[in-house]
Amino acid sequence: MSTTKLQDKFGRIHDYLRISLTEKCNLRCSYCMPEEGVQLSPRDSILSAQEIYDIANIFIGLGINKIRLTGGEPLIRKDFKDIIKALSTLPIKLTMTTNALLVDKFIDDLKKCGITSLNVSLDTLNPAKFQQITKRDKFQQTIDNINLLIKNGFHVKINVVLMKGFNENEILDFVNWTKKDNIHIRFIEFMPFDGNKWEWNRIISLKEILDMIDAQHKVIKLLDGKNSTSKAYQVLGYNGTFAVISSMTNHFCGSCNRLRLTANGKMKNCLFSNEEVDLLTPFRNEKDITPLIQNCLIKKNSKHGGIKELSKLNYDDPLMSQRSMITIGG
Ligand code: SAM
Ligand code: SF4
Repeated sequence: MSTTKLQDKFGRIHDYLRISLTEKCNLRCSYCMPEEGVQLSPRDSILSAQEIYDIANIFIGLGINKIRLTGGEPLIRKDFKDIIKALSTLPIKLTMTTNALLVDKFIDDLKKCGITSLNVSLDTLNPAKFQQITKRDKFQQTIDNINLLIKNGFHVKINVVLMKGFNENEILDFVNWTKKDNIHIRFIEFMPFDGNKWEWNRIISLKEILDMIDAQHKVIKLLDGKNSTSKAYQVLGYNGTFAVISSMTNHFCGSCNRLRLTANGKMKNCLFSNEEVDLLTPFRNEKDITPLIQNCLIKKNSKHGGIKELSKLNYDDPLMSQRSMITIGG
């Protein structure tokens, strides 16, 4: 197996694939799912479990060694167990991003399939605000399932999308959570996607976050991984850690190693790019999709899907993502 087959024209080697299992979700987070909902792809154009396995295998042959399952909410797929069972036989690190609502139904399957670390989305520690942002009264269920994961020895990373006027006053509460529990809190800058009413002035920057935490705690900088999208820190003496993912104010495109496959079988070379390549139709027509994958990668821009000056991007810009996050797979 070669790891150079997925090298782009800037020399970046791509070894990490995110596969979205569904466009549907059991929550309605306002930053992810447009208020009016999304136009779902026809059922027969969604990747089947077998197609996920087969296409993943092709990517692995090209050098992918880590796969993250995402969505929509991956755990709502009826065949979720079959999907992870099949993928767990492949030579990859398998992981997932989930809202955790259904995690209790799958604990043993996740363990059996060698999944040891999960990213869980939770944007507030306040039940009323949880209902406001997700439009569902499921705060306690989420917290109970996060605790269940911790109890079962999973490494839990909590994804917190920070939005000015909504949850910046909870940054310290999230950091305080790391005092006792060995969890990793990831503060994510709010990103613009179709239908999410994004504005620059709703972003809380890396600097603002750190200033807020520094004012209260002795913070130490931790080492960041080679392709890490985040800057990691720890409060001195605490068990857990925290990080900031500054996709908007301080990008990390130079070390990007990620590719994406949407639930309807389209490859995307960048979260911000509007270009996508249909792999599923040619795959179903028994065509070799390797050249399509390589071609898609060659077109990858150096940063932000080709948006030249992200700092000047407006929400109504034609360059703005034409997909909502829920149909891309975060
Ligand atoms: N349903 C799962 C979940 O919520 O974890 C997986 C899919 S969700 C689209 C994946 C990640 O994308 C979540 O952590 C979510 O917080 C993040 N996300 C969605 N919309 C975003 C936005 N506009 N800006 C930043 N992160 C976003
Ligand atoms: Fe669903 Fe995850 Fe999007 Fe929230 S962020 S609506 S949980 S897919």
